Amino acid sequence: MKCPHCLESFHDFYEVIPVGNDASGDWGVISRKCPSCERVVLVLGSGKIGSIGGRHILDYIKDERLIYPRAPSRVPLSKEVPEEFATGYREACIVLADSPKASAALSRRCLQNLLRGNAKVKPSNLANEIQEVIDNGSLPPYIVESINDVRNIGNFAAHPIKSERPGEIVDVEPGEADWNLDVLEALFNFYFVQPAIIKRKREILNLKLKEVDKKGTKRG
Ligand SMILES: [Zn+2]
Repeated sequence: MKCPHCLESFHDFYEVIPVGNDASGDWGVISRKCPSCERVVLVLGSGKIGSIGGRHILDYIKDERLIYPRAPSRVPLSKEVPEEFATGYREACIVLADSPKASAALSRRCLQNLLRGNAKVKPSNLANEIQEVIDNGSLPPYIVESINDVRNIGNFAAHPIKSERPGEIVDVEPGEADWNLDVLEALFNFYFVQPAIIKRKREILNLKLKEVDKKGTKRG
């Protein structure tokens, strides 16, 4: 299975902790530990509790719900992303499965904060702010297209409230909530992650150059 914490795949070995039974059958908490990140993954399931070699198993699983973590990670979020934006993004991920509407509202608000805080757009409505960042030429073409699609896929023309009050919970179009998160990830990468990687590489390069310089001086 794929670990919902770190997204690494691991060989599925689990144990079941029986927690009761009702008309749905036996209920059990399926507990797994990811060997990569060493975190526990808990799933509540109903079916038929059996046992193999003294270990409980759950057969004919009907109903499976991830209970810990609350929701699978989409991408491991880099520590370079400032907490003020990371929090909004994580909240939007957590509610995605239960309520795409709520998730899209959180991600639109996060996008607006990001554009105001980082792209320094003039505060207006979200549609205009997106237009401003597109027009000012500060973003690479692939992100321009993606961020433009936030307006298109969300059908801002028919739902102006998404632009005027981005945090408002309104109906979503299919794929909209996921798309908003994809765009946030691309923007985080562009604004925070890539610049930090290049900065670290340059620091290493400068250290190497200094070393070469010192050796050169000694030889001379
Ligand atoms: Zn893991």
